[in-house]
Amino acid sequence: MTTGFELRETSGKGEGIFATKSFKVGDIVMTGVIEKMLNGNHSHASQVGENEYALHAGLIIKVNHSCGPNCGISINVTGAHDFVAMNDISVNEEITFDYAMRNYKIDYFPVKCMCGSIKCRDKVTGWQGLSSEKKREYEGFVALYLLEIDKAGYSQDIK
Ligand SMILES: [Zn+2]
Repeated sequence: MTTGFELRETSGKGEGIFATKSFKVGDIVMTGVIEKMLNGNHSHASQVGENEYALHAGLIIKVNHSCGPNCGISINVTGAHDFVAMNDISVNEEITFDYAMRNYKIDYFPVKCMCGSIKCRDKVTGWQGLSSEKKREYEGFVALYLLEIDKAGYSQDIK
């Protein structure tokens, strides 16, 4: 069985992950496996809990951000992030997700977003920086602790 995705060179954004088969809404596009837990946030870290960061194994860490992504996040039984199709994805389409679906704050990316989406927010922001409209649009496709942080209402002082 093929995985359905591969690493390729994008036009202008460095490497990215591209679909080698088509996916339907709700399909798991990439299955997350945690390689190791980390002591803090870094450029390839995934936030997996309020103050927990992990490094995912394999090509998942190469998936580029988009402000108009075709994938969202679902936490699997191992606590890792699966990437689930939010739209139908066709062969050769770049697989993208929104970093804000995973990280409350973004510390390690350039201020200017290069995603090229018509929905581009111009800046790569974390969950903290999303409008409530955008948060609703992503409902069901984000890491759950982000919602818990919101609910707890201490978004102002979390590090
Ligand atoms: Zn963007």
